[in-house]
Amino acid sequence: MSSVITTAPDPTVKPGFGASFAPKMSICWYRNQQWEPLKVQALQPFSLHPAAHVFHYASTCFEGLKAYLTANGQVQIFRLQRHAERMQATAEALCLPKPGVELFTTAVLQAVAACRDAVPEPPGSLYIRPVLMGCDNNIGAAASRVQEACFYVLLSPVGDYFSGDKPLKILLDDKNMRSPPGFGVAKAGANYAAALRHIETARAEYGVDQVLFCPGGDVQETGASNFMLLRDKQLLTKPLDDSFLPGVTRDSVLKVAADLGYEVLERDFTVDELLDWTKTGEAALSGTAAVLAGIGSFVYQGREITVHNGQIGPHTLALRKALVDIQLGKTNDIHTWLTSV
Ligand SMILES: *Cc1c(COP(=O)(O)O)cnc(C)c1O
Repeated sequence: MSSVITTAPDPTVKPGFGASFAPKMSICWYRNQQWEPLKVQALQPFSLHPAAHVFHYASTCFEGLKAYLTANGQVQIFRLQRHAERMQATAEALCLPKPGVELFTTAVLQAVAACRDAVPEPPGSLYIRPVLMGCDNNIGAAASRVQEACFYVLLSPVGDYFSGDKPLKILLDDKNMRSPPGFGVAKAGANYAAALRHIETARAEYGVDQVLFCPGGDVQETGASNFMLLRDKQLLTKPLDDSFLPGVTRDSVLKVAADLGYEVLERDFTVDELLDWTKTGEAALSGTAAVLAGIGSFVYQGREITVHNGQIGPHTLALRKALVDIQLGKTNDIHTWLTSV
């Protein structure tokens, strides 16, 4: 089946990313206080009432993870359990019925198993998008938790994210917040809607790829990725708190860095310290789509500041490679991050 959904053009997203889909999806409805049986079906539009809660009150969240075809021909999903756990936490924050870790993992495994042939060869991968949304047909239910919900898993084969790997240009925004206080931990579509205007304005005014939100100088994250600073055998990133999304890639890069002998520093830091660090060090963004993306320059107070001569630095490349090698089964999965399909 050809793709039935297309995404809006986004300059930080490579062409093709997210705009084509595997032929099957898994889907499960929550009604009468319970999850009904999970179904694997052809990818197809489904109908919701125009009064559905999600359309009005943004009762929706998602996950994003990947399956890889490894060197020995196996399909492996990266950190399935961790993503399942994160969706429970987000569902809780949004007062949505939790799918449960087991339903989540089964829905992902069954969808991917039904679409094994759609898993591209490396450097491509199969991007997995679980979605949870509130479906009560009641526009009077703005202040109530939903009684009906839908959980589904959509699959999108993606190509090489790094063909033409270009260092990013990032605006340091020390005024705006990406999300309401305490809600940054939730992987909620509403946070993306809230941040979009800041990102779009920054693109138009400064030609940047993304915005790094640093409200009051506190360096948090960009619109869709975590942030880290790197230099000789040191990595600095903000410790987990409720202001930003606890990335699975962030966690994985920190563990891989420690394995490689880096000193991993998790503490709050300011824009001033970031600018000081990048006089000699590197800066990178982490997330499932791009793994680790190098930053070539920042824009701050109207000035452009080049990082690492505008090149992607060696620490960024080394840590990315170490993590990708685990994902592709090229090195030992010592942390047991891979689940076979
Ligand atoms: C998903 C996401 C990330 C990255 O998380 P990963 O688990 O590494 O993919 C970072 N920030 C935001 C806002 C996100 O939504």
